[in-house]
Amino acid sequence: MLSYWEKQSLIGYDCIVIGSGIVGLSTAISLKEKAPRRRIAVLERGLLPVGASTRNAGFACIGSLTEILDDLEHMPAETVVQLVNLRRKGLQLLRNRIGDERMDYRENGSYELISAPEAPALGRLDEVNELLGGILPGPAFSIADDKLPKMGIAAQHLIQNNFEGELNTGKMMRTLIDLAIERGIEIKTGCEVLGMDERADIVSVRIKGGLTLTASYVCVCTNAFTTDIIPGLDISPGRGQVLVTEPVKGLPFKGIYHFDKGYYYFRELQGRVLFGGGRNLDFEGETTTMPELNERIQADLEEKLRSIILPGREVAIEHRWSGIMAFGQTKQPVIKAHSERVFLGVRMGAWA
Ligand SMILES: Cc1cc2nc3c(=O)[nH]c(=O)nc-3n(C[C@H](O)[C@H](O)[C@H](O)COP(=O)(O)OP(=O)(O)OC[C@H]3O[C@@H](n4cnc5c(N)ncnc54)[C@H](O)[C@@H]3O)c2cc1C
Repeated sequence: MLSYWEKQSLIGYDCIVIGSGIVGLSTAISLKEKAPRRRIAVLERGLLPVGASTRNAGFACIGSLTEILDDLEHMPAETVVQLVNLRRKGLQLLRNRIGDERMDYRENGSYELISAPEAPALGRLDEVNELLGGILPGPAFSIADDKLPKMGIAAQHLIQNNFEGELNTGKMMRTLIDLAIERGIEIKTGCEVLGMDERADIVSVRIKGGLTLTASYVCVCTNAFTTDIIPGLDISPGRGQVLVTEPVKGLPFKGIYHFDKGYYYFRELQGRVLFGGGRNLDFEGETTTMPELNERIQADLEEKLRSIILPGREVAIEHRWSGIMAFGQTKQPVIKAHSERVFLGVRMGAWA
């Protein structure tokens, strides 16, 4: 039961954004920048955001050579280029909004490890550089084998990506939350949306616990969890596993690294190694929204940490976690009007 005052002043918004990940917060901030007097609320079911945005690896990526070659097998070249361009433009928007210092954005080098069976990919490097030439100011990829001995990493070849960087995910999300609050956006946590009812002039948003909020427009930014409130969309969850080592004395590399078509990724992070991936070992098990660890994949990550990344060194694991991203039949995100008053910004995966 609501009071007269609550009904009059506290439950109605110009726009409600559902989900407080990178996409939800960025959407709310953009809307507020365009029309500062708009009353905007972001509804988040967790006390913290609980999808991918606070659980990722902090790679600011456009795609690795073997991933792009793999994409070319499944998508028209034009679509592959568009996807790379979207990632690049999105990163630029994020950097302009947050500023590099506030999220520790760095370009310490971005590399892909190439194993012996993958070596034929090197023969197509010029072709891919040419393909991306229209959207990048220089060649995307170059061979960097000379850097391998110093890094101590076990790989046959090393390819450098000349347009990628890394950032501190926690600081980035902290800053997005701060920017949203500074601009007068209400962020309501512990607020799970169960569904929506759209009428000609208004959308009612049903919240777990019984409350219904209303808005002229709703932006759904719930990524992997979207089909819980809008069934039938082509969106499947994909869980990703991550671990971080204790500080490694004299760690011989910096920067970010991919291997196996982007299915594995690691980076130097404050003197530690952050290592994640391996979803391809158990696609079925990782098609879930349960934020749990997968023992088989975590064991595989440890094995690869010891055999490929830090061969011959003993290192302890300090922390492990998982996060949930979204995939579909194609790799493109879904950014479109769903109806007259409901808009979607969902199906955000990573590179693999
Ligand atoms: C392990 C891992 C590593 C990754 N590494 C990288 C990387 O290094 N670089 C990169 O670019 N990308 C990476 N990604 C992908 C990237 O993190 C995602 O593409 C991005 O965070 C998606 O943001 P989002 O806002 O769309 O979704 P999310 O961050 O998942 O946000 C959706 C939010 O909606 C909320 N929500 C869901 N349902 C409801 C509901 N019914 N009511 C209210 N709230 C709801 C959720 O709690 C969640 O907070 C990684 C992903 C994972 C999982």
